[in-house]
Amino acid sequence: MQIDIMTGLLSGVKFLQSPHFNARPEQTNIDMIVIHGISLPPNQFGAHFIEQFFCGSLDASLHPYFETIQNLRVSSHLLITREGSITQFVPFHQRAWHAGESRFQGRAQCNDFSIGIELEGTDDTLYEKVQYEQLVAIIRVLQKAYPRITRERVVGHSDIAPGRKTDPGKSFDWRYLDCLLMAAPA
Ligand SMILES: [Zn+2]
Repeated sequence: MQIDIMTGLLSGVKFLQSPHFNARPEQTNIDMIVIHGISLPPNQFGAHFIEQFFCGSLDASLHPYFETIQNLRVSSHLLITREGSITQFVPFHQRAWHAGESRFQGRAQCNDFSIGIELEGTDDTLYEKVQYEQLVAIIRVLQKAYPRITRERVVGHSDIAPGRKTDPGKSFDWRYLDCLLMAAPA
């Protein structure tokens, strides 16, 4: 796995350009990863509604829940499905719209300086082993490209928007993530 610095894209990964992004503030150092959980419709996996949602092409008539989110304009840099397949929606040097109102160590607007990674899942469903494996591979290449992303700066959405967001939820095993990060790269 590699990052093409010119394009800001993970090489060998499907890229679906989301219209939901803009430029980061000038001179921004990318120094944080925000991990999210998402499922569409809630608690259902395997369809491609998340991709459509981030690309602004979700058909709201397909599910009552979709009508409640049809005016939201959100995205993330990456999605890792239950099967471990990775899709990128926004180049890393651009600002994706994943964190919303948020704060980390006194800094607000975490979208400005973070990379958003969505795991297909819910707060109550254990994430798949292959999702952790893909996540760790991604974190490693991102840390190489953006050395300010230390382990302490890999956080959950709930950490930067407490009381408002709960993802990736108690189903996300931070200790397992640390075990994989500390192990030798495969
Ligand atoms: Zn989130």
